[in-house]
Amino acid sequence: MPERRCKQIFAMLSQFLDGELAAKNCRQLERHLKGCPPCIAYLKTLKTTVEACRRYQAPRPPAPSKQVKAALLAAAQKARARAAHVRPLTGTRKS
Ligand SMILES: [Zn+2]
Repeated sequence: MPERRCKQIFAMLSQFLDGELAAKNCRQLERHLKGCPPCIAYLKTLKTTVEACRRYQAPRPPAPSKQVKAALLAAAQKARARAAHVRPLTGTRKS
């Protein structure tokens, strides 16, 4: 089996998995895969990798928990309260 052909097929496989491969190339790919164990093995590996990537990307980063939100809020309130104490009470008012 010509190796150059396989390289072409390899290049097509990721497109094939993404569903971006033209129908014409798709048929060519399928025909080649039927008689080419190395390409079948490669496709399997690629599929596994793509699936693993999709699984990995699926979980979203967790939102801050209630405890974290409460802590942030408390810290903000404390800072505000401190700022209020620091603010000079004299000399700022004009009548
Ligand atoms: Zn091949």
